[in-house]
Amino acid sequence: MTRVAIIGGGISGLAAAYELEERRRGGAQVEYVLYESSTNLGGVLRTEHIDGCVVEAGPDSFVTEKPWAADLCRALGIGDQLIGSNDADRKTYILVRGRLIEMPDGLMFMVPTKILPTGFSPLFSWKTKLRMTQELFHPPRAVDHDESVAEFVERHYGAEMVDRLADPLLSGVYGGEAANLSVRAVLPRFAEMERNYGSLGRAMLAARKKMPAGSGGAAPPLFTSLKNGMQSLAAAVASRLTASSIVTGVIVQALQREAGAWVVSAGMQSDQFDAVIIALPALAAAQVLRLATAELAGELAAIQYTSSITVGLGYDREVRQALPPGFGFLVPRSEGKRLLAATFVHNKFPHRAPEDRALLRCFLGGAIAENLWGLSNDGIIAIVREELQQVLGLQAEPLFARVYKWKSAMAQYGVGHLERLERIERLRRQLPGLALAGNGYRGIGVPDCVRSGREAARDVAGAAG
Ligand SMILES: Cc1cc2nc3c(=O)[nH]c(=O)nc-3n(C[C@H](O)[C@H](O)[C@H](O)COP(=O)(O)OP(=O)(O)OC[C@H]3O[C@@H](n4cnc5c(N)ncnc54)[C@H](O)[C@@H]3O)c2cc1C
Repeated sequence: MTRVAIIGGGISGLAAAYELEERRRGGAQVEYVLYESSTNLGGVLRTEHIDGCVVEAGPDSFVTEKPWAADLCRALGIGDQLIGSNDADRKTYILVRGRLIEMPDGLMFMVPTKILPTGFSPLFSWKTKLRMTQELFHPPRAVDHDESVAEFVERHYGAEMVDRLADPLLSGVYGGEAANLSVRAVLPRFAEMERNYGSLGRAMLAARKKMPAGSGGAAPPLFTSLKNGMQSLAAAVASRLTASSIVTGVIVQALQREAGAWVVSAGMQSDQFDAVIIALPALAAAQVLRLATAELAGELAAIQYTSSITVGLGYDREVRQALPPGFGFLVPRSEGKRLLAATFVHNKFPHRAPEDRALLRCFLGGAIAENLWGLSNDGIIAIVREELQQVLGLQAEPLFARVYKWKSAMAQYGVGHLERLERIERLRRQLPGLALAGNGYRGIGVPDCVRSGREAARDVAGAAG
């Protein structure tokens, strides 16, 4: 019998446990114990149901293009709960000098693929529009080193594109800044386009030409979620697991390798395993590994994390009617606000709010979130409401307001991240039966976390079994 410890009961650890549970049910000689320090499973996947609204405390959805989370839902029998974003109403605004400006049609991240909408958009100055034209002649460049997303985008389109698009788009996902994120880790497709074509604009046009005729049919929705919220994914996995294999409310303090086995010290007890899956943010993984391998722990601790705060606000029918159409807005740092983004949830997804309710989700991240950390929830709500008033003219009293704080939960893939992953992988291989899963490595989103958990389980089950 192969015994596996899984540390962390967020979606990464749950996906790992699911994979082992399926193997066990299929007759494999494997058993597992999942350790979770809090009393709830799911990690940052947390949903509250308030006044008929589905309020997401952590992630509100995942990108449809990455199949692993939706595949897991289908395997769990909750495929009928999957819902797509209302892309027909998709409009995103950027705050520029205090005014909301719609992102022009045809922008693929920051690469314009339609001339007219971008050419007439007030989002960019004439200087940036000229840069977009010149970009089409950008020569292929054999870059031999990683660089930040900000440097990469600036080389192609100038500083305004970094400020108005690249940085706000990425801070909504990573909570951090384009100046600190690795282009190779965060935008690998764009780095490859540059290698092959030089110009990102030309690369996009070439990719379009290669698309088979007739593939312009109904595109899948950009984002997928679950009717009753993201926490229902965690709940569905948990209900599939063997109850006696789950230990909650117990923090794992340390891992040590003794006589060919892994010793897990948790609470007042320790237990021996053949293999361990550490499904924690890299920073927390470093903590539990520090006694077993200082070198690997050092590399893991060097992966930076940012904190974030989400604020859910519910309003009545009048507010819903007065709000602009579309999915919401992003705020460039140069606007000097604390708010980084706000989503009009009632427009973005079906089943999120009754017809007579508006649901807003506001996001604060990185250094801004850290600065506000000590404030009371009421203080944070007051700041968010003040800024919503400035941006949207929204003065109404919310029907409800909730604040959710996530300390060091979002990984920042800094410049050189891929090289660090190679070093981590080399050190990990020296420790038999050790696997790493989670958002610190090759994807921060829920689908990548699911993939990483299942891969880690296959890895240890294969190696040890
Ligand atoms: C506010 C926010 C919004 C997001 N929005 C999106 C989105 O819209 N779409 C998307 O795809 N992704 C989004 N993400 C990212 C994504 O949700 C996360 O990367 C992913 O859910 C992380 O899952 P995880 O299991 O790896 O980690 P976590 O969810 O952090 O789980 C780790 C678990 O380990 C436990 N733990 C920690 N230390 C120990 C220990 N020593 N012993 C035992 N247990 C321990 C913790 O209690 C926790 O439950 C968002 C993240 C945040 C924070």
